Amino acid sequence: MNVLVINCGSSSLKYQLINSDTEAVLAKGLCERIGIDGRLVYQKTGLDKEITEAAMPTHKQAIQLVLDALVNPNTGAIANLSEIEAVGHRVVHGGEKFATSTVLTDEVIAAIEECNDLAPLHNPANLIGIRACQELMPNVPMVAVFDTAFHQTMPDVAYMYGLPYEYYEKYGVRRYGFHGTSHSFVSKRAAEIVGKNYEDLKIIVCHLGNGASICAVDHGKSVDTSMGLTPLEGLIMGTRSGDVDPSILDFIAQKENLTLPQVMNVLNKKSGVEGISGVSSDFRDIEAAAKEGNKRAALAQQTFAYRVIKYVGAYAAAMNGVDVICFTAGLGENDCKIREMVMNNLGYLGVEVNAEVNNATRGKEAVISTADSKVTCLAIPTNEELAICRETVALV
Ligand code: ADP
Repeated sequence: MNVLVINCGSSSLKYQLINSDTEAVLAKGLCERIGIDGRLVYQKTGLDKEITEAAMPTHKQAIQLVLDALVNPNTGAIANLSEIEAVGHRVVHGGEKFATSTVLTDEVIAAIEECNDLAPLHNPANLIGIRACQELMPNVPMVAVFDTAFHQTMPDVAYMYGLPYEYYEKYGVRRYGFHGTSHSFVSKRAAEIVGKNYEDLKIIVCHLGNGASICAVDHGKSVDTSMGLTPLEGLIMGTRSGDVDPSILDFIAQKENLTLPQVMNVLNKKSGVEGISGVSSDFRDIEAAAKEGNKRAALAQQTFAYRVIKYVGAYAAAMNGVDVICFTAGLGENDCKIREMVMNNLGYLGVEVNAEVNNATRGKEAVISTADSKVTCLAIPTNEELAICRETVALV
């Protein structure tokens, strides 16, 4: 079955056409600057990437351009649109309504709409993509795959904040967690790699990308995760602060004469390793600057790793042990230095690093701990699109 996987943002849209039988990507790309001017990136597997400046005032027009590219007689991946048998949509927030992926119906769309409040930047954009696809492919079954769904197994002690209970009852203020598709995909793969039952393992997944989160997966279920009501909580990220003392918001607002939305903007877009280093949000730039002696760049790296170390410790405690620790996403898959900084601090758990393998591992699966290590450490490339494809196929 060919599945079109769509990840729709407010002004961009990523897509992959995947054959679910072989799990091969037939074509992929993205639409950028939707509603501004428009650029289509399209790549059929095996051919060069094509970049076309093309007007796309709306998401529907952007998706139409993607569909046209997919059936282009010269470079298309399929002969006609009937070969797209299902569409899988990434949806950021499913609130407490969605604990699993769900076939899209009018009722489901209305329920997703009710979660818009919780993710005002993401859910409305996801819904625009869903509606545009439905208009262009009215007879194709579509599935919503939620970033939050995997974490709906968290117990109340993990998801409650120490706030008046009525905020939870009235507004749904609680921890939801994100990157669920990735945490689920990577933890399942980890069980395969170590050759044990998923339901018998205590796994910690460190999803370290521009956005970063950690998840404790106990016997196949997410029991805690570092992102919260929104993706701002937890680890120090590219430009996001992660955990801060909430009093800082008021303090900075007064000192810098900023409104609350302006302070939130600083926490989301001007903080994290970029804020600490003053260099960049990209760890490759930070690493280069640190090597040249930039102290703030080195501090950003160390602070990032320190926060990861603390969360791993917290989740080992939450699960009363850990069997497997996984590193994934841009940094987790590629940055052996950050992985080493983290693993070197986990000796108390019985972690022994295989430095040679760790140093040689970039963008591929590997066991990066020694054979004697009490906890197995793994680098595992995440693949959220493939996970969405699998979920979609399972439901249609
Ligand atoms: P997101 O999907 O959240 O945007 P990614 O998972 O793509 O993020 O991760 C992006 C980050 O991964 C980059 O900011 C960069 O810091 C880091 N990264 C990617 N490749 C490498 C690499 N080869 N070495 C070190 N860091 C890398």
